[in-house]
Amino acid sequence: MVCLAVKAGGPGTFPEWKALFADLMPELEVKDWYDPALNPAQIDYVLVWQPEPGRLAHMGNLKAILSAAAGVDHILADPELPKALPIIRMGGDETATQMADYVRWAVFALLREAPLWYGAQQAKQWARKNAPPTRLSSATRVGIMGLGNLGSFVASKLVAADFTVFGWARHQKQCEGVTCYAGPEGLVPFLQQCDTLVCLLPETPETKGLITYSLLQHLRKPAGFINVGRGPVVVEADLVRALQDGTLHGAVLDVFDTEPLPETSPLWAVPGVIITPHVASEASRPARARYVVSVIKALEAGESVPLTYNPAQGY
Ligand code: NAP
Repeated sequence: MVCLAVKAGGPGTFPEWKALFADLMPELEVKDWYDPALNPAQIDYVLVWQPEPGRLAHMGNLKAILSAAAGVDHILADPELPKALPIIRMGGDETATQMADYVRWAVFALLREAPLWYGAQQAKQWARKNAPPTRLSSATRVGIMGLGNLGSFVASKLVAADFTVFGWARHQKQCEGVTCYAGPEGLVPFLQQCDTLVCLLPETPETKGLITYSLLQHLRKPAGFINVGRGPVVVEADLVRALQDGTLHGAVLDVFDTEPLPETSPLWAVPGVIITPHVASEASRPARARYVVSVIKALEAGESVPLTYNPAQGY
């Protein structure tokens, strides 16, 4: 019998996971990661979020690690992580659709100055301005850093919403309706096209600290910035500076260097910023259970699965 141990969403969620897997794959034996009687040698697969360092190394018969989220940095943080095991990222339609919904909301929020109106509402001010009409979506140039599983889907939804869309990745891409740039040499020409920048990059040694004040200077000003990738890709002090001096007119931030974002962070108080607590995309448990079952069935059949972490690339 194939055995899956689950640590995804806290100890109280296990009964729900167990019931979902019982419906979808009755032959799968599902174990609670937190069960003190759990026999590590019995586990074939784990579905995990932030496994305690060292736990996976004791599961001697593990065949693969399934991430409960699209990122794998929370698994790679384990210094004793068994190196040879495949790590599979969370996928499925819901993960991508939620991300596309969030990014469209964020782009529209910046386009229609949501932070300004919200601040005025808090102060009970009717803050009409003598300003030219708001720019149209069709005249808004959105650039997406990272055209992978999520970025390419988000790009297609922004194209459908009438934005002019640009993309940047390591490799040259063909995405319908999207002008694509690639590699370090494509970065500045890409940025120069955009007045709204969306970061959908994973955290890797190459992307860490990539978005600096001087990089943001290449955007069409004043620009909007949305980070739904990973916090450490952005130098937070540079982001604050860019918001304070008008390089950026606003930002929607979902991911941070330190999460939860500390109370002392200057980002809480910078005008023009909307902060959300890492909620851009988290598929429902039924959707994630369906995806996990499809992955386990494929792996048991000896098939390769998409969204497998590539250690040479770092994502
Ligand atoms: P993915 O399929 O691995 O795509 C990553 C993209 O980043 C690829 O297009 C890749 O280029 C590009 N990339 C990586 N390193 C690069 C570099 N050094 N220079 C240029 N491009 C680079 O990942 P995904 O599923 O789309 O997810 C992206 C990230 O979103 C995840 O890693 C996670 O951090 C974040 N995320 C956040 C949330 C949230 O709730 N905020 C939810 C889910 C995911 P190539 O295509 O050329 O390889």
